[in-house]
Amino acid sequence: MAKAKTDKPAADRQTGYHWRNWSREQRCRPEVIAHPHTREGLIEAVMNATTAGRAVKVAGSGHSFTPAAVTDGSMLRIEGMNRILEVDRPGNRVKVEAGIRLGDLNRKLDRHGLALENLGDIDKQTLAGAISTATHGTGAKWRNLSAQIEAIEIVTADGVLHELSEASDPDAFRAARVGIGALGAIYSVTMRTVAPFRIERFDRTRPLGEVLAGMDKLADELDHFEFYVFPHTDTALCRESTRTDAAADPPSAVATYAQEVVLENWVAGAFATVTRFVPASIPALSKLAASGSGVSRKLDHSFRVFASERQLKFTEMEYCVPRANAREAVEGVLEIANRRDLKVAFPIEVRFVAADDAMLSPSFERDSCYVAVHFDRHGEGHKPYFDAVESLMARFGGRPHWGKRHTRDDADLRGLYPRFGDFLAVRERLDPGGAFANEYTERVLGPVVEPVAGKKRRRRKK
Ligand SMILES: Cc1cc2nc3c(=O)[nH]c(=O)nc-3n(C[C@H](O)[C@H](O)[C@H](O)COP(=O)(O)OP(=O)(O)OC[C@H]3O[C@@H](n4cnc5c(N)ncnc54)[C@H](O)[C@@H]3O)c2cc1C
Repeated sequence: MAKAKTDKPAADRQTGYHWRNWSREQRCRPEVIAHPHTREGLIEAVMNATTAGRAVKVAGSGHSFTPAAVTDGSMLRIEGMNRILEVDRPGNRVKVEAGIRLGDLNRKLDRHGLALENLGDIDKQTLAGAISTATHGTGAKWRNLSAQIEAIEIVTADGVLHELSEASDPDAFRAARVGIGALGAIYSVTMRTVAPFRIERFDRTRPLGEVLAGMDKLADELDHFEFYVFPHTDTALCRESTRTDAAADPPSAVATYAQEVVLENWVAGAFATVTRFVPASIPALSKLAASGSGVSRKLDHSFRVFASERQLKFTEMEYCVPRANAREAVEGVLEIANRRDLKVAFPIEVRFVAADDAMLSPSFERDSCYVAVHFDRHGEGHKPYFDAVESLMARFGGRPHWGKRHTRDDADLRGLYPRFGDFLAVRERLDPGGAFANEYTERVLGPVVEPVAGKKRRRRKK
């Protein structure tokens, strides 16, 4: 059995920080970083932290733009917990260690003749990190990743491993499926899977007016529909995907590299760089980028179509609005993105997700449209743009993606989530001392309330 390793991290030579997220905007200097590889190692690492009075945070692969995984206490890095523990073939269920990256999980499932029913844009996240922030793909009939879960094993601050499911503890289960890292350290996840399938995807440009008028129909008719719009253009780049039993007909590695790595990253990167230094060129370059993309087709195993490489680094905010407000929300965001003073050089992205029942899922009990805005990650240039989009989203009862930039706090969020109070009750039950709290959870959930000598007291913010 691999031994749990608890070690002092070496500081990054240039920054002095021990941990940075993918976009390098969030950083921290944890007192201790532990790398548990097993259930026993995870329990030991949690206990080591809590008995020493340190806060604990599990970090996934650091793909959140928010400080969701940041801590100055004990950081648990869980990528070593990456095994498939059980496969139930007739039931199409798998029990998996929660640190596995989605890409590894896809490949391992494929070898067992299984697949995840839907995925987001990339597959570099850990399973626990992805579900904890309600990571989603697109497809009006499909729910987010956390909705595919049947059971969760989670270690609380006292070192106890709880097995949560709809049968054992429905409230805790519906809280922990999208728990923002605030309830404990997830050791394993049991997921429903499906038989492997292929996706045929067409990427094509369509007139923006046609897409705005028809997006509801496109979202209903196609299994997985999404689109991008560059500001200052009247074209939408549509991704139209259908599930199929046809045999895979993958493009050559060179064609894939040209389309997905070079076009989606290098050209976009060059575009972003040029526009950073010559903002006046944004409208002309946007038109060029939108017109330059022809029709391309890809027919391959689902997981090879859903996810692609994102080498260009950026910052992002994404809001989830009721599907009924999709058109109004997208038009409003485009109006903002087209303001020349905001110098927006990145496209907006629009996706569709079905309602689910995790207490803090942004698509909780409502069919949803997600609108994402992106910006150069350097400096504070994104602020006026993101602030304007955020105010617009408030009009539609928009709920922010937990892993993407936003400025909402618990007072704003409480009214957006009908079961917010129930989530807090579960948190009080599973993590009464706030061992898994950090500044981000204190902002979005409020400070932990501890029972002391029969009274309640607010835990002081650090
Ligand atoms: C390039 C890029 C593309 C993206 N594409 C999409 C997309 O298509 N759709 C989408 O919805 N999102 C997308 N995201 C956002 C991303 O999926 C989420 O932010 C996700 O949470 C990142 O997973 P992670 O493993 O990096 O977790 P981290 O960012 O490291 O952590 C996220 C949260 O999970 C908690 N956590 C992690 N592991 C555990 C555990 N074992 N127990 C308890 N809590 C834990 C952390 O404490 C933290 O609160 C994208 C992000 C990037 C950078």
